Amino acid sequence: MAKGMKIRKGDLVQVLSGKDRGKQGRIIEADPGKGRVMVENLNLVKKHRKPRPLKDSSRMGQTQIQPGGVIELTAPLPVSSVMLVCPTCNRPSRVGYEFREDEKGRRVKVRVCKRADCGEVLDR
Ligand SMILES: [Zn+2]
Repeated sequence: MAKGMKIRKGDLVQVLSGKDRGKQGRIIEADPGKGRVMVENLNLVKKHRKPRPLKDSSRMGQTQIQPGGVIELTAPLPVSSVMLVCPTCNRPSRVGYEFREDEKGRRVKVRVCKRADCGEVLDR
């Protein structure tokens, strides 16, 4: 699927499904090839790390142990399970495309909020 994603790095999105449903966060990574996004501090998965001895044993008779523990990592989400939050109306909105003129009079394709009562440009 070579279709471009409507969601980009830096966008504020709301999660539509899963354990973080209803929460909002910024896109920190977007992978159009896989259709996946990573949302800051959301969809965290816990990884357990075992304690392990450190190899460096400069002190005689002492083995240093690197403590184990639980670390949290952000796991990717399918782009279909998030929705862009419009910066103008502050609601999760579908994204449309429109041609607008920029300050130099050139026609540029911009992303717009598809809510009928908003319709504002999403990128500033
Ligand atoms: Zn809007």
